[in-house]
Amino acid sequence: MLSYEYLKNVVSLTLEENRCIGCLMCTMVCPHGVFEIVSGRARITYRDRCMECGACATNCPVEAIKVASGVGCAQAVLNSITGRNGKGCCCTIDNPATSRIK
Ligand code: SF4
Ligand code: SF4
Repeated sequence: MLSYEYLKNVVSLTLEENRCIGCLMCTMVCPHGVFEIVSGRARITYRDRCMECGACATNCPVEAIKVASGVGCAQAVLNSITGRNGKGCCCTIDNPATSRIK
């Protein structure tokens, strides 16, 4: 199975669990399955899968989630789509020095 993990311990994602109302929205919008609901509240289960897209923070109704979106791996994905690999971003997904997708 393909792992969504990219770099270890660099993600800006934070969650204030005490603010969570358990609406499930973050589990539905996250494309990499970072969150789980445990005892009625969200929990970050797979932090290193986060690509800082910002969907969870944008859709959380109580602003329990913070993430510096628009940077990191999301930029690498966009660079690959637009053909800008290696031009302005060092972390392109097809950079053989950094990619975990072989
Ligand atoms: S920023 Fe995107 S990838 Fe990261 S946890 Fe939120 S929805 Fe998932
Ligand atoms: S979107 Fe916000 S309130 Fe809803 S489950 Fe996730 S952290 Fe909790």
